[in-house]
Amino acid sequence: MIAMQDPTTKHPKPPFEKQKQPFPGLATRMNPKPDHGEISYKGSGRLAGRKALITGADSGMGRAAAIAYAREGADVAINYLPDEEPDAKEVIALIEKEGRKGVALPGDLRNEAFCEKLVEDAAKALGGLDIFVSNAGRQQQAGALSDITTEGFDATMKTNIYAMFWLTKAALKHLQPGSAIIITTSEQAYDPSGDLVDYAMTKAAGMSFTKSMAKQLGPKGIRVNGVAPGPIWTPLQVAGGATMEKLEQFGGKTPMGRPGQPAELASIYVQLADPTASYATGQVYGAAGGGGQP
Ligand code: NAD
Ligand code: MG
Repeated sequence: MIAMQDPTTKHPKPPFEKQKQPFPGLATRMNPKPDHGEISYKGSGRLAGRKALITGADSGMGRAAAIAYAREGADVAINYLPDEEPDAKEVIALIEKEGRKGVALPGDLRNEAFCEKLVEDAAKALGGLDIFVSNAGRQQQAGALSDITTEGFDATMKTNIYAMFWLTKAALKHLQPGSAIIITTSEQAYDPSGDLVDYAMTKAAGMSFTKSMAKQLGPKGIRVNGVAPGPIWTPLQVAGGATMEKLEQFGGKTPMGRPGQPAELASIYVQLADPTASYATGQVYGAAGGGGQP
């Protein structure tokens, strides 16, 4: 029997301690440390033998998905920025602890040639590719449009939109019928915050991409679905994604009264890749503590 647990008290609640890290930030240095399911996630062979590539998988949702995929029997290649090596090392160790192959492929997704190489390297190391999770993201809050530089705007677009496009294009050379593409979008796609203008635009683009690609790839037997998280306790938020005031009260305005932890979305990434969900495509699955969807 699994003990009943009240989701409102299951994880830390605000107020949180003031904290700030330079982008992209490390999960290891957050207080409290995020829960990516390191201890809690239990697999049951749902993705046995699958080969997955996940971007931004050193921390946050990507890391939770990587741990869960390995525990469900998949081999997993992870991408992250070179500065995130300490977080990535932990993820590779966790994947290997399950007896699965863990492939570390660091590099900057704002570069098209790197995106193409990343997919090729992942497919080569894994012996193919069946699951592609486009999850890496850049979020830098700015209270006024005049605070968003062309350089910053471009970095957000490149990371969140161009990389999704380049990587999916490259992945399609490998994905066979039965494969799954998963895009991490956001509640920001539907209900954008005033200080996340450029970021929210990219998340709306991710939602739209999910839906149009599902239509394009449905006849080919490749499913495309999205995940729309609400406020989740990850490095993205402490590395420029939120103001200090928002961070101290992070997630407090949701009906759950707290932010989500990456671990609480792991099973969604599993479900969307699982072959038993074979009729689900073009869907966006939310996890926002009670808010979020239109
Ligand atoms: P995170 O910081 O743990 O993960 C984001 C990852 O993106 C980083 O670990 C980094 O590896 C990667 N990344 C950023 N720029 C990159 C670049 N140029 N090249 C390669 N990799 C790069 O934070 P997270 O919250 O888990 O973010 C994962 C996804 O979830 C993002 O797409 C984000 O937009 C989305 N999201 C987050 C929240 C939230 O509240 N945390 C809410 C909704 C959606
Ligand atoms: Mg990270």
